[in-house]
Amino acid sequence: MAGADLLALSVVEREMDDVARALERLDDGTYGTCAACGAMLADEQLGGSPAARFCVAHAPAG
Ligand SMILES: [Zn+2]
Repeated sequence: MAGADLLALSVVEREMDDVARALERLDDGTYGTCAACGAMLADEQLGGSPAARFCVAHAPAG
């Protein structure tokens, strides 16, 4: 099914986008901090989602 393939591809592309952003943040020293308030992210949060960009308080719903 071409449609399913395209959907899977877009999911992979989005994940690669997240990883690329995480690497940029490693570069500029903001990796592991909330993009909204600058708080350090909890280890368990980064463990579950290494590309997490927001603390629990600022994580987008969903
Ligand atoms: Zn925050």
